[in-house]
Amino acid sequence: RAKDGGRGAACFFEPGMDATLRERHALEQDLRAAVASGGFQLHYQPLFSMPEREICGYEALLRWTRPLRGPTPPNDFIPLAEETGLIVPIGAWVLHAACRDAVSWADDRKISVNLSPGEFKRGDIVATVASALAESGLPPRRLELEVTERLLLEDTDAVLSKLQQLRAFGCSIAMDDFGTGYSSLGYLWRFPFDRIKIDRSFVSEMAYDAKAAAIVDTVLSLGRALNLEVTAEGVETEHQAAALNALGCGEAQGYLLGRPRSATEMDPCPPPPLAASATMS
Ligand code: C2E
Ligand code: MG
Ligand code: MG
Ligand code: MG
Repeated sequence: RAKDGGRGAACFFEPGMDATLRERHALEQDLRAAVASGGFQLHYQPLFSMPEREICGYEALLRWTRPLRGPTPPNDFIPLAEETGLIVPIGAWVLHAACRDAVSWADDRKISVNLSPGEFKRGDIVATVASALAESGLPPRRLELEVTERLLLEDTDAVLSKLQQLRAFGCSIAMDDFGTGYSSLGYLWRFPFDRIKIDRSFVSEMAYDAKAAAIVDTVLSLGRALNLEVTAEGVETEHQAAALNALGCGEAQGYLLGRPRSATEMDPCPPPPLAASATMS
């Protein structure tokens, strides 16, 4: 940017500190402040059983309105939160808030929460999930935890043990964004997954690209063979939904079916049956 602005623009920056570094520092400061002051929100995107299109759960998605900047998507700040360790308090807040919100809803569908590698490596994820479940009273079988292939790259024995402990609580585990990372079929065999989520990139191309369609088909077959549920991410068109139904995909998520919505837009738990006792008296 300094280059775009011509020679004079360079004066904007302190000598010796480049723009990227300054921006990074400012982002970290703003993240710390948000952690301290409860500056995050959660949105919830419905998950649908297919082909019925019935809501079978919700995925919690982190939202942050950055002071002076406005809405800032998770992909813009989670990497820095991971590097700085701020992901540990942020992730703990997400787990507590998502479990608490899910208990307050009128239905008892599952709630999916994304976990980052830093929550396993720097934090005590097993204790954090246990406390979120205990404080909220959410039945563990309603909680699904989404991890990516990135988690499985190093320190696999420690990760395996933690995933097994989380599963022993009764939570289910999903492999998110499947196909985009360093996919290894060994992961699906060795780690205790209940579900594969096929990355949006394959779903969005499957209508135009026979290779993408073949990958989706193959992941669905793999799911059947390994007894794993499969969710298709990022379904945006009827064409994609029809193609997924034809391939026997059991669950889908995407803007076609339902967008993420704020916690206040979710149906609250019905009030205690005061009305019923009133009519009886
Ligand atoms: P993800 O877990 O794969 O979540 C799905 C992302 O795809 C979400 O983006 C969602 O809004 C978006 N999406 C859903 N349907 C469609 C669609 O039909 N079309 C398109 N174009 N996009 C769709 P979002 O909320 O920006 O989150 C991006 C990523 O950030 C997530 O990907 C997840 O990896 C991460 N993330 C979000 N919330 C959390 C969190 O609480 N903790 C952690 N550790 N990571 C999170
Ligand atoms: Mg996810
Ligand atoms: Mg995903
Ligand atoms: Mg994705």
